[in-house]
Amino acid sequence: MKSDDDNTFSEDTWLTHAGRDPDAYFGIVNPPIARASTILYPNLEAFENPDHRYRYAREGSPISDAFETTMAKLEGGFGAVTSPSGLTALTMTLQAFTKAGDHILICDSVYPPMRFYARDMLSKFGIEVEFYDPQIGGAIERLIRPNTALIHMESPGSATFEVQDIPAITAVAKKHGVVTMADNSWGSGILFKPLSHGVDISVLACTKYIGGHADVNLGVAIARNEAVYKRLRASAKHLGMCAAPEDLYLALRGLRSLKLRMAKNEENATAVIEFLKTRDEIQQIFYPALESHPGHDIWKRDCCGAGGLLSILLKPAPKKAVHQFVDGLKLFPIGASWGGYESLAYPQFMKSIRSAVPWERDGFMLRLQIGFEDPFDLIADLKAGLERLNAPD
Ligand SMILES: *Cc1c(COP(=O)(O)O)cnc(C)c1O
Repeated sequence: MKSDDDNTFSEDTWLTHAGRDPDAYFGIVNPPIARASTILYPNLEAFENPDHRYRYAREGSPISDAFETTMAKLEGGFGAVTSPSGLTALTMTLQAFTKAGDHILICDSVYPPMRFYARDMLSKFGIEVEFYDPQIGGAIERLIRPNTALIHMESPGSATFEVQDIPAITAVAKKHGVVTMADNSWGSGILFKPLSHGVDISVLACTKYIGGHADVNLGVAIARNEAVYKRLRASAKHLGMCAAPEDLYLALRGLRSLKLRMAKNEENATAVIEFLKTRDEIQQIFYPALESHPGHDIWKRDCCGAGGLLSILLKPAPKKAVHQFVDGLKLFPIGASWGGYESLAYPQFMKSIRSAVPWERDGFMLRLQIGFEDPFDLIADLKAGLERLNAPD
């Protein structure tokens, strides 16, 4: 079966087979990795034909086509463009849709490297960046200026997971002719579908759930329609964005087990959270499926799961105790990224990554990525850590 043979198949079915073409590769089930820069033209006529399929590997190859068409279908878009990391997928999208003199709006809960890109790079090109409260909803209208070109959303947001009212924001944007983009690394084509909630471009770090095994950096931007797609493609071309074939191969492979893995991340996270709720050392647990969570009702309305990522804010504690808590964890080493098979801990320095809604709370903030270990072991590890927090050596 080829992915486009039958549109009546459900998502689970077509996603199992999408992007494959065994007939083209001697029956080999998965599209092989073809390493290439040069791609030869059969003759001058082919060279002169602007629609000739593969011209130079930087601009596309069979494996990038396979992954991009699959991602476009999964997110419900016209087309997708890959890039070598999640961050480059975000920056190439911004560069496609902004110019000197524009004003753009970025949610305060944005992935922090994107905040620093906007602050340090976009400002050099004469683009004014304003951060907004992620929970602003339709009231974003009062921030729109005549030169507002773009609104960036990330829902749930980085570190604190505020759920944004994306349909309300996109409705305002449409009224004012403003382009909208959303970082959907958290949803990864499964938990949330930005394009079906009015967003023009959905951008994902495939590095997270899609790769899923802590061995790939890869990004993709998915366009709502052909006009948006063409601008994204041109941006990637001018910037020389190209993803490595090995990474595209691994990401395509990751898609086969994506739903199963995300369900397991979530199942284990739910068990860990049940334990964390019982602990007095914790001020707040940040996880959209909790009823007390900011934007929980919107999450319930728009999303179909919450995944394996959460944060905990400890009650204020001595630095030594916090270090002993974190350093002694056996199953939660400190490491960036998330969405993979293994559990991780990542400290969040909140004050440096919020400006529109300044972070004024005390206490150590730790993000936890919950992997596939036995939740019994994860809970025992965290329990021992919290005992160390209470009674450091
Ligand atoms: C990790 C991450 C990215 C960036 O992905 P990289 O491949 O590391 O560049 C973008 N957005 C979010 C929300 C992320 O968590």
